[in-house]
Amino acid sequence: MICEILSVGTELLLGDILNTNSQYLNRRLADLGISVYFNTTVGDNPQRLKKALEIAFSRSDMVIATGGLGPTKDDLTKEVSAEFFGKKLILHEESLNRIKEFFEKRGLPLTEGNIKQAYIIEGSKVIPNDWGTAPGIIYENNGKILILLPGPPREMIPMFETYVVPYLLTLSSETIQSKVLRVCGLGESFMEERIKDLIENQTNPTIAPYAKEGEAILRITAKAKSKEEAEKLIEEVEKEIRKRLGDFIYGEGDITLEEVVVKLLIEKGITIAVAESCTGGMISARIVNVPGVSKVFKEGIIAYSNESKVKRLNISEETLKKYGAVSKECALEMARNVAMISGADIGLSSTGIAGPEGGTSDKPVGLVYLGLYMNGVENYKELKLSGDRNRIRLYTTINALDFLRRHILNL
Ligand code: AMP
Ligand code: MG
Repeated sequence: MICEILSVGTELLLGDILNTNSQYLNRRLADLGISVYFNTTVGDNPQRLKKALEIAFSRSDMVIATGGLGPTKDDLTKEVSAEFFGKKLILHEESLNRIKEFFEKRGLPLTEGNIKQAYIIEGSKVIPNDWGTAPGIIYENNGKILILLPGPPREMIPMFETYVVPYLLTLSSETIQSKVLRVCGLGESFMEERIKDLIENQTNPTIAPYAKEGEAILRITAKAKSKEEAEKLIEEVEKEIRKRLGDFIYGEGDITLEEVVVKLLIEKGITIAVAESCTGGMISARIVNVPGVSKVFKEGIIAYSNESKVKRLNISEETLKKYGAVSKECALEMARNVAMISGADIGLSSTGIAGPEGGTSDKPVGLVYLGLYMNGVENYKELKLSGDRNRIRLYTTINALDFLRRHILNL
């Protein structure tokens, strides 16, 4: 089965929005073992859209189109698709009722355009839209399959996962299961190095490493006759991967690093305070992302200037003069003092040169120190990061969270 993704919308061609739908669908179809050879993007123009459908179906068995199902006149994907197959659009009562209800609930008037959204290609299956108004469509014709989904990702993604994935699985006698392992403190290439032979010899399951927002991720995907069989295949590979990567693996599935860290803090009843310089609150913000964190997070202080470090954190003038603000001495003092000031069990700190200016040959851009203090025990980590200011701050934040995680794990 060869599938083509067709993204519809002039806004995509103008560069106004990023085509995240195609990225999402490409990744999920790869997981499902469905080959995607082409991605096409076309504007809201009926002739060119029809041409794009002709080309897509000349080389693929299935086309998944997103966008152009909206209520306005320029949303034409359904109309053009019906014409392409020589079919009529017919009113789908159930969808119309859903749409009416959607507007009633919000106290909004129904427009002509919204009624248009309740029309479907005759002979098609409807994909209910529980997240918006436009229903999706699955249309089969002579071995060709057309799937239409709305453009907004917050509608497209849950509709795809809830209704399209189960449909796609019925097309194959095999089931596909996948599992994500999340890795931290080991760059993507170092991670790959450790499991290179496993990746190279993979057939089923497949192991796909990729980087995302400063973390390394491994997706293990297995095909089998049953779910249990697929899970067993994954388990065997996972065991070997875990042996090689140990506690560099911080979690699995959708869990985030901060969720893991906060869970550990809550489990062990340890409170924390953070003193940040170059990260400017990013570490605290990540920690505060997690609901329920008030049990363990005391405070975060952004002490960016030297004056602030002295005034807010009682960093000694001597430390600043002798070692500088970007030094392990300063990081440790920041960690110790923030713990004392807030009465937290752990003090965590960051200080570094995020650039692009301010580096010297002694202390280049990307030099960062993390400090951690707990019960009289001090620990620091020196980082030598590369990249632009944003990247340095992001990697500092992730390293800080991981530094904290490892410290708690080893208690
Ligand atoms: P539409 O279904 O064409 O009315 O799409 C409505 C909105 O969905 C657009 O204005 C975009 O914000 C979003 N959207 C459409 N296509 C995409 C896409 N390929 N990737 C991400 N967002 C999209
Ligand atoms: Mg559109």
